[in-house]
Amino acid sequence: MIKYTEVMVRYGELSTKGKNRKDFIGRLAGNVTKVLNDFPEIEIHPRHDRMHIVLNGAPFEEIDKRLKKVFGIQTYSPAVKIPKTLEDIEKTSLELMKETFKEGMTFKVNTRRSDHKFEYDTNQLNIMVGDYLFDHIDNLKAEMKHPDIVLRIEVRQDAVYLSNQLIHGVGGMPVGTAGKAIMMLSGGIDSPVASYLAMKRGVDIEMVHFFSPPYTTDKALAKAKQLTSILANYCGKINFIAVPFAEIQETIKEKLPEGYLMTIQRRFMLQLADRIRAQRGGLAIFNGESVGQVASQTLQSMVAINDVTTTPVIRPVATMDKTEIIKLAEDIGTFDLSIQPFEDCCTIFAPPRPKTKPKLDKAREYEARLDVEGLIERAMAGIEITPIYPNQEFLEDQVQEDMDLL
Ligand code: ATP
Ligand code: MG
Repeated sequence: MIKYTEVMVRYGELSTKGKNRKDFIGRLAGNVTKVLNDFPEIEIHPRHDRMHIVLNGAPFEEIDKRLKKVFGIQTYSPAVKIPKTLEDIEKTSLELMKETFKEGMTFKVNTRRSDHKFEYDTNQLNIMVGDYLFDHIDNLKAEMKHPDIVLRIEVRQDAVYLSNQLIHGVGGMPVGTAGKAIMMLSGGIDSPVASYLAMKRGVDIEMVHFFSPPYTTDKALAKAKQLTSILANYCGKINFIAVPFAEIQETIKEKLPEGYLMTIQRRFMLQLADRIRAQRGGLAIFNGESVGQVASQTLQSMVAINDVTTTPVIRPVATMDKTEIIKLAEDIGTFDLSIQPFEDCCTIFAPPRPKTKPKLDKAREYEARLDVEGLIERAMAGIEITPIYPNQEFLEDQVQEDMDLL
């Protein structure tokens, strides 16, 4: 097995202008540093056109898994640093090719040289190394336009660098470049996908989760935290803000007509999310609503609910079909957890027949019968904030506690 010594990272959708570009590269370097922070031997060198990650012995296989989840990376290539002799170039090129070449594949050699004093020029190297590989690998074919493998040789001042893989990153923008926002995270399928898509556009999110003890269990809360931990793989850390919601739900159920339970609950959720956003310096609110999916997600419902704020409410999965959302949920690893049946606060107080076309003036009128400010203040006073990191365990611990009680 080849021991890769560095990784060359190419940037994604980069706005080419000065300050934005600097911000993009600076954030990306910070985010890469965060996801690799348990490898202290690694050095990260962000440059104008690409980033070099010097491994210093760290295993590429593990680094590879992490880089696949960093937004802002278009492609990357693992490379080996070798001494500047023809013999070393040929020997290592052959080793690299033997690892990636499969019967029938085509290849080409592509040499770049920043050390112009090196004894061979790029053409000579292309031809000599190509010939050497032909002599040592059966049925190898050259192809200049669309080769399956490109063997890149870079002759720099300090050494020669070889690579023959181009790995695709997730693209998007580095988390943080678009500013901060609040994400409304339930335990369902849609809001984790919406979270992923928000982060992909560079938004630094904090989760707001409404829970209703004693009507909801500790497991439902643990599930939302567990989902957050999976999503933290894409940014390193996410703050999880738990908001007690039982008093609000009880009050609405006791005092207002059943047809408007859902609409008024959602109005409270959005008002609370907006308070938290303002406190924490966020610019927008994201949620997992999809047009027409359920009663609270008709356009009429959105009008009656969105009324409580002028803050932008962004709905990344608004126009996606459920099957498309599920596909993404599977890809990002949240689906299996999302379908676990721990009911959150909405399912418990869901009226049997919520209005699919609530009226805005009615919603306002009913809500005004309640002590809105008092309810909101008490919920705000009960907030709990937990920083959550990748691969933390919440749900297993919870299941264990429950078993201990038996
Ligand atoms: P999801 O699959 O994300 O739960 P859903 O299809 O079940 O979505 P709803 O339950 O109607 O839809 O919720 C719509 C959106 O409202 C959610 O995607 C989420 O953004 C927000 N939301 C719902 N319940 C909660 C909650 N308990 N805490 C925080 N946000 C919530
Ligand atoms: Mg839900």
